[in-house]
Amino acid sequence: MMNDVPESKVESPITANTSENPYEIVKSLLKESVMALQLNEDVYRILEKPIRVLEVSIPVRMDDGSIKSFTGYRSQHSDILGPAKGGIRFHPNVNIDEVKALSMWMSLKSAILGLPFGGGKGGVIVDPRQLSECELENLSRGYIRAITPIIGPEKDIPAPDVNTNPQIMGWMLDEYDRLRGYNVPGFITGKPIIVGGSQGRVEATGRGVVISIAEAAKKLNIPLQGATAAIQGFGNVGSMTAKFLHQLGVKIVAITDIKGGIYNENGIDIPALQQFVSNTKSVVDFPGTNNLESEQLFSLPVDILIPAALENQITTETAPQIQAKILAEAANGPTTPDGDRILNEKGIFVIPDILCNSGGVTVSYFEWVQNNMGYYWKEEEVNAKLEEKMIHAFEDVHKMHQEKQVNMREAAYIVGVGRIAEAYKARGWIK
Ligand code: GLU
Repeated sequence: MMNDVPESKVESPITANTSENPYEIVKSLLKESVMALQLNEDVYRILEKPIRVLEVSIPVRMDDGSIKSFTGYRSQHSDILGPAKGGIRFHPNVNIDEVKALSMWMSLKSAILGLPFGGGKGGVIVDPRQLSECELENLSRGYIRAITPIIGPEKDIPAPDVNTNPQIMGWMLDEYDRLRGYNVPGFITGKPIIVGGSQGRVEATGRGVVISIAEAAKKLNIPLQGATAAIQGFGNVGSMTAKFLHQLGVKIVAITDIKGGIYNENGIDIPALQQFVSNTKSVVDFPGTNNLESEQLFSLPVDILIPAALENQITTETAPQIQAKILAEAANGPTTPDGDRILNEKGIFVIPDILCNSGGVTVSYFEWVQNNMGYYWKEEEVNAKLEEKMIHAFEDVHKMHQEKQVNMREAAYIVGVGRIAEAYKARGWIK
């Protein structure tokens, strides 16, 4: 009922925001949660900007002998709960506002999961598919040399993100160790296990996505055995999410990647697909499936829809077509504010990105803890700790969703911002 809607909700920044700029979107959501918590505006003034943003130029010797200069960034949004933490993205569309927004989301994820970290993020404007392996290594090492003054295991700890992987973390670790003159395994997470990586880190984000989907399905009384799902993206997060959903008996009927999509209404054979993709680098033409236009993914009659690619995919165009009961945001920022409003109107249960995909940073935290103590856990131990933390965080957000009668995204922001504000209060910055 309109009368029941508080004044602040009617003209809330989120409803007024039609932007697709992730930095503008995250600022609106922050402002809204500061209002919902009736916090002093000082909290918003502190949180609306990252504490530090570095832009660097990275000269790379290319295979033909020429020098090419790449632009990179590192944004540290907050260090109030601990050192900044977050991945490094290699993508042609990287820009400063995206990196800032991604670093703010990292602050919120850490706070929601109860990790002793702030938020950071890095990015380089590059299409890594255009580089040889040697050029990619030179770029990765050059990026670390360029941002070294502001990073370190007690300051800011990088990790993988879109188009970066354990091998790249290994090169970066090596570069940092050479600069320092000794081994600093806790400087970066998501590295290969042999040089201090954690068991379970490669699978962690997908595993966390599936834990949160299982919790949502319980709340909605949807049995996962036999439920159907569609996934946008088959990189690390999309493929691991597919693997664990498949193990739980979910039928994955459609998957798209950068080159196209596949569909089989009886469910795709995920282990065989993983094998296929490791050779062909794309899901397209996987035997036993029909090709699917990427845009068709959102309109399929599935129970669970999982955007696991980039920002701004669920929009005024795609949101009206969605038939799923659960939208699990495995990507960061996949939904625009306008798209979100449509999802709310349709009553779709959204597991927001800052909760849904936080399994990655959670196991990164475990990796850093293991590096600090120099003692390493078995995979079962890591997975059990991840599950406990994800379920706890899901419950905290769900409780807030019920208590405050807000949607799951607003609830997640309120939990995250509330904890960050509490830290500012404890340190004497706000009353
Ligand atoms: N890039 C991942 C994220 O967006 C992981 C970050 C990390 O492990 O620090 O959450």
